[in-house]
Amino acid sequence: NRSVSIKDHVEGAPEESDFELKTDVITTELILGSNDVLVKNLYLSIDPYQLNRMKKYSSSHETSNFAAPLVPGKTVDGYGVGRVVASAKAGFEKGDPVAGVIGWEEYTLVHQGTMLNKLSTTDFPLSYHVGILGFSGLTAYGGFYNVCKPKKGEKVFVSAASGSVGNVVGQYAKLFGCYVVGCAGTKQKVELLKNKLGFNDAFNYKEESDLKSALKRCFPDGIDIYFDNVGGEMLEAVVANMNLFGRIAVCGVISEYIDAKARVSPNMLDIVYKRITIQGFLAGDFISQYADFIALTVGYLRSHKLHVLEDISIDIESIPAAFAGLFRGDNIGKKMVQIAEK
Ligand code: NDP
Repeated sequence: NRSVSIKDHVEGAPEESDFELKTDVITTELILGSNDVLVKNLYLSIDPYQLNRMKKYSSSHETSNFAAPLVPGKTVDGYGVGRVVASAKAGFEKGDPVAGVIGWEEYTLVHQGTMLNKLSTTDFPLSYHVGILGFSGLTAYGGFYNVCKPKKGEKVFVSAASGSVGNVVGQYAKLFGCYVVGCAGTKQKVELLKNKLGFNDAFNYKEESDLKSALKRCFPDGIDIYFDNVGGEMLEAVVANMNLFGRIAVCGVISEYIDAKARVSPNMLDIVYKRITIQGFLAGDFISQYADFIALTVGYLRSHKLHVLEDISIDIESIPAAFAGLFRGDNIGKKMVQIAEK
């Protein structure tokens, strides 16, 4: 069983050399507990938040195993999709497709108490259950419909808009009837947002010398909703362009994961006078709406209204580069690693 762990705590931008690949043996005899399930891992989700778990002093305030600090030398755990190889747990049979907290490894022995769900809607590719029908999709759904509280015709701005969560938010917002602008870090991504995903406008934030002016150009009448994936300077520039009673959903602050100094405080007096609401959230907050999320998203997929953006690397050895690439903007859409085909 090949697995990936961090060699030591990671500070700053992650590099391939921060990780090590190990090999050990796992057998079905190792299934000890009465509720254990042995899963063959197929697709592993590669997520920016994992970097916060790799830091020496994790800034995470979350106590669930999703966000607990990682231990150097121990296999990184994370979300993914696999197939049951052997099970001592009622309701899980050999061959069942499952999604839950597995690991950056070929096989995971999933113990009692760890999130593992049997998959339905398996007429879609299993990879969809990592991204569009998995946690990225639920994050976009909960953040946009619940936290942003959109109204038709409102002006929506999305950062990291070609990424896993961002592209889905932008597409939901368009389908809902909003005016949507996204930013991303390359010309190719900007073209994709405008020409394939139907964004009204998009810009490359790396080419803008003044973010406030770039936003003013795209939103001459101001921004009503900001879905924030990046934090930092962009948040400050958005607040300056926000309308009265605007809403900011803080999904993540990736610019600050590699550099805490990238944190810039927005103008708080603007927040006061414009009566802006800023709300952070976690995908798990919306687990009770999972059925609604699946119904809406599956409906859009079946009617070909949603484009699925996946960025899949092959083989466990590609995990370090896939992960480090998130912070270089290498990915377009949901980044995942395919460990096995079926
Ligand atoms: P993405 O697929 O968007 O990948 C990360 C992207 O972020 C990169 O491709 C890059 O695109 C952009 N990026 C990287 N570094 C920077 C930087 N310094 N400044 C600005 N942009 C940068 O990842 P996800 O969709 O999985 O995650 C997006 C955000 O949502 C993250 O902050 C993540 O932590 C958060 N998140 C929060 C969840 C929650 O429950 N609250 C759940 C899932 C994700 P570009 O070309 O645009 O630079």
